[in-house]
Amino acid sequence: MSQRVLVIGAGPAGTRCAIRAAAQGAQVTLCGAEAALPYDRVALSSLLAGEKTLPDLIPHDLRGLHAQGVAFRPATPVVALDRAAGAAVTARGERIAYDRAVIATGSRAIRLPVPGADLPGVLTYRTLDDVRAMLRAARGGGAAVVVGGGLLGLEAAAGLAQRGMKVTVLHPVEWPMERQLDAGAGGLLTRRMGQRGIRFAMPAQLAAIEGEGRVTGVVLADGKRLPASIVVMAVGIRPDTALAAASGLATGRGIQVDAAMRSNDPAILAIGECAELEGRTIGLVAPALEQAEIAAATLSGQSAHYAPRADAAALKVSGTAVWSAGEIAGEGVTLRDEEEDRYRRLFLREDRLVGAVLYGDVSDSGFYLNLIASGRRIGRHAAALALGPAYAQELA
Ligand SMILES: Cc1cc2nc3c(=O)[nH]c(=O)nc-3n(C[C@H](O)[C@H](O)[C@H](O)COP(=O)(O)OP(=O)(O)OC[C@H]3O[C@@H](n4cnc5c(N)ncnc54)[C@H](O)[C@@H]3O)c2cc1C
Repeated sequence: MSQRVLVIGAGPAGTRCAIRAAAQGAQVTLCGAEAALPYDRVALSSLLAGEKTLPDLIPHDLRGLHAQGVAFRPATPVVALDRAAGAAVTARGERIAYDRAVIATGSRAIRLPVPGADLPGVLTYRTLDDVRAMLRAARGGGAAVVVGGGLLGLEAAAGLAQRGMKVTVLHPVEWPMERQLDAGAGGLLTRRMGQRGIRFAMPAQLAAIEGEGRVTGVVLADGKRLPASIVVMAVGIRPDTALAAASGLATGRGIQVDAAMRSNDPAILAIGECAELEGRTIGLVAPALEQAEIAAATLSGQSAHYAPRADAAALKVSGTAVWSAGEIAGEGVTLRDEEEDRYRRLFLREDRLVGAVLYGDVSDSGFYLNLIASGRRIGRHAAALALGPAYAQELA
């Protein structure tokens, strides 16, 4: 009889692993807590902004999954693992027997614990249901407050503005995306987003959310009040280790795994944002999919190892290009052209490019990502590197 593989979590990592394992001949069940078919979470901002429709986000329907050998169970959260018996227990009390299990429970969005945080109309930004709630709120127009001016917060703000809401972004630092951008580029981005009608309160701290039965506004730490018919918190994520921890698996920030994606129970693997390898968790889709491939190989008895590599993140707001990759920390070489609304910042260490941020013109992103990934020596090209491949041709 073929191996029974249970994949828990139908995000990008879980779905990829389920399809691969089925292709290798395993008998695969994929349990997802959400009521939806597996969808492209990365594209939620495009759905919110009206640039994509829901069918665009769903690569496989139920029949398609079945045809690939995956028995998909939506709205089926797994609440416990009976490791001794090799069975998972669902929220409805059903037991699903497995030979190998793969935990791919992803992350949860953090909700700031301020007064009023549980009022209806206070949302996070992680799931299709979150976007549906935003779209419902946007139909009534009115004001939205987005808490957090990182990548996700800005995408939420742009989408809600596109849908006709008056949006204010609260951010605790003087400029948005401060992890990627310095003050100058942050200023350019603020101006560009402002042209779309988005306002910024920076630096600002959220103190409380007000409303009787539903949110009506927010109070800032300095006492200022802003009206809001919705509040979207985009303040970070936390790996979802609840099931693994309750099942006695080793967890730190995430579920601890080796490079073959095995937890401390060799029958159970963990992949994607819920997994922690050598003290590090991931927060992007490309490494999550790579880990899914490694886990599928491990399940089939091959020797495969996940090796972390530089991954890139981009702000998906049309007309506002921001791209970053690698380690964005320490001293950087900056090239700024405010008139052209362009900016580049490169991070070098020991004669190698380790990180890059591009704003405005991101056409050279592939060149910089390759350089970061290859670890090639920059040598005499250091001075001109920020000008792009045309000025450092031997590296291109
Ligand atoms: C709006 C938005 C935009 C993004 N944009 C980008 C981008 O541009 N580029 C990029 O690289 N990344 C982006 N990301 C991040 C990217 O979506 C994640 O890195 C990716 O989804 C991680 O995949 P995952 O499968 O590990 O986890 P998840 O996608 O979080 O999937 C985990 C799934 O497991 C389910 N689950 C949890 N617990 C259980 C349980 N006990 N039983 C059953 N199911 C369970 C959850 O409901 C969820 O559906 C974005 C994220 C968001 C929210």
